[in-house]
Amino acid sequence: LKSKLPHLPESIFAKMTKMAIDHNAINMSQGFPSFSTDQELKDLLSKAIQEDNNQYAPMTGILDLRIKISNLVSKLYGGTYKPDGEICITPGATQGIYTAIQSVVQKGDEVIIITPAYDLYAPAIKLAGGRVVEVAMELPSFSVDWNKVEAAVSSKTKLIIVNTPHNPSGAIFSEHDWKQLEQIVNKHDLYVLSDEVYEHMVFDGKKHLSAASRPLLRDRTFITCSFGKTFHVTGWKCGYCLAPEPLMKEFLKIHQQVVFCVNRPVQHAMSAYLTDSKNYLELGTFYQHKRDLFLELIKDSKFKFVPTPSTYFQLLDFSEITDESDVKFAERLTREFKVASIPISVFMNGTDPQMLRFCFAKKDEELIEGAEILLRL
Ligand code: PMP
Ligand code: GLN
Repeated sequence: LKSKLPHLPESIFAKMTKMAIDHNAINMSQGFPSFSTDQELKDLLSKAIQEDNNQYAPMTGILDLRIKISNLVSKLYGGTYKPDGEICITPGATQGIYTAIQSVVQKGDEVIIITPAYDLYAPAIKLAGGRVVEVAMELPSFSVDWNKVEAAVSSKTKLIIVNTPHNPSGAIFSEHDWKQLEQIVNKHDLYVLSDEVYEHMVFDGKKHLSAASRPLLRDRTFITCSFGKTFHVTGWKCGYCLAPEPLMKEFLKIHQQVVFCVNRPVQHAMSAYLTDSKNYLELGTFYQHKRDLFLELIKDSKFKFVPTPSTYFQLLDFSEITDESDVKFAERLTREFKVASIPISVFMNGTDPQMLRFCFAKKDEELIEGAEILLRL
């Protein structure tokens, strides 16, 4: 069999989580909470099942959930997305991203991604027959040089993928970033995929600026979001995609082939849970406490850091500890010191800024235990 993705390695998340289990290490690698979600949300799912919401959902998702999302997006970001025709529930943001890419990218098209980039984007572009064009962020600030982005645009460029809040750095787009992107994509007639799965995890009084509040991007942009991240249920795999009608029409043709529709009881639970806005509006404060606890505990360690402004990931610079590559060091930390993290060179084509990504969506006891280990290094 001729492989379609001959060079695709096993996902770093699968690899490091497996290593953490094998070596009985604290797993601060893959991004998922180690604590329970709200009992109320679990009860809502049981209720949805008991009430017999157990057959296929409509292809785009149950109407009630699409209406709630439409209202939420308009309240938070001012963007208007019609529940019918501009919103689709997806099995996690993962499938939304894949489907959005398949909807617009054709053989020979180029797609610009900004590295470090989440590891889903490049393989999905290749599967669509596209060519990946990488533009590196400026380090150590993890900011985007938009002149470099524009210089990477060619007559074949079709799509630019952006991710704010950014995994793994936590960098968030400013008004300036959005304006630059608007100028480039309107001038060169490009589509945009804006991956915003960490939209509710922003700290220190900062604000997430969404593509959904940019009228100049509306006609050309897909936005992907994740309830798994927002409601501490990554295993439920439920998210959604927003796009203007003509783009959503193409999106749905692929969605119909790939999944047809998404787990129905989960959608009922999400819809009921979304009624109370504190369930997502308090997420930033919740994770800011976790970040602050973790960073206070490791402040006297040899790791250097700038507190992450968003997401549940903290980058730690280990250049004062070892000259090893990030991959080797992450493996040794897991095996010998029993704490697992993610080497970020895998998101940037091998460039190694000697930083590891630690997920702090963990029980406080685990953060304390993990920090004690890092202090010993
Ligand atoms: N995009 C980014 C940047 C992510 O970190 C993740 C991981 N959650 C996803 C997309 C996928 O989200 P989901 O778990 O909802 O599929
Ligand atoms: N988004 C998660 C992370 O960055 C991983 C999700 C996955 O394992 N596919 O850690």
